[in-house]
Amino acid sequence: MSTPMSAARFLQALRNEGLTVVTTPGWETRNRNHKGPWGPVHGVMVHATVTGPKVDGVRICRDGYEGLPGPLCHGVIRRDGSVHLVGYGRTNHAGSGDPDVLRAVINEKPLPADNEATTDGNRHFYGFECENLNDGKDPWTPAQLEAIEKAAAALCRVHGWDERPVIGHLEWQPGKSDPRGFTMPAMRDRVADRLGDKPKPAPKPTPTPKPYVPPVFPAGLAPGRTTPSARALQRVLKATGFMPKATPEADNYGPVTEASVNRFHAAHPQYRAAGKTYDPNIGPRGWAYLHRLAYGR
Ligand SMILES: [Zn+2]
Repeated sequence: MSTPMSAARFLQALRNEGLTVVTTPGWETRNRNHKGPWGPVHGVMVHATVTGPKVDGVRICRDGYEGLPGPLCHGVIRRDGSVHLVGYGRTNHAGSGDPDVLRAVINEKPLPADNEATTDGNRHFYGFECENLNDGKDPWTPAQLEAIEKAAAALCRVHGWDERPVIGHLEWQPGKSDPRGFTMPAMRDRVADRLGDKPKPAPKPTPTPKPYVPPVFPAGLAPGRTTPSARALQRVLKATGFMPKATPEADNYGPVTEASVNRFHAAHPQYRAAGKTYDPNIGPRGWAYLHRLAYGR
């Protein structure tokens, strides 16, 4: 259900989403599992590193700093959109947060305001630290925002979550401000779009094929007459096998056409003039039937 995925699955999920993923040696087993439980997991938390462009946020998140040992998250998302895996398991990213928020995350409900810090978040959240000064001015690059969207969606996809368990640190722990410079509701919208869980437009109904309507019986079509519509008759007789295919088309309703019409009438006597055994004369009903035979469905 919400058992944490394996490190290999985690990596695969991110790559499947089209992300550029860089692994740091030993990331799969670098964690704080000796300090507390890991799992069940209920959501994805987005952070900002509060570092400038010249600082190596990946190293900091791998190693931590005095007073806060690493790893500080699972993946670091750089300004260029690359995702650097630094740890896997319980990591020091979420700290203590609001139990009502956790309940909303679990139930995929809108978040209440966070006003308590009594619940262990490191146990329950995947965490991404995103390199940014978090001063509201340092611009978030489109590549980085897209990577956040993809990383969050990748994990939601595996767990079958919608976008609502994707939260910002500021929505979890009172006093936190990260991430600043974009809003989490906007990011959740992007994740929802990516997951495709917005209502889809109704599929277009398959058009019913129109019934075949034979062409109108041409005036003046009769044995011995010369008319361009004789060619149409010859074509349909060939298509139905009553006239040899090699017969050249002509405007003339001559003896070959007559013999072919008679063959048709011999096969379908209901279209032959009553009482006749040889009928070279095509009528409107026979004409329509021949066309249906050749071109109808
Ligand atoms: Zn944070």
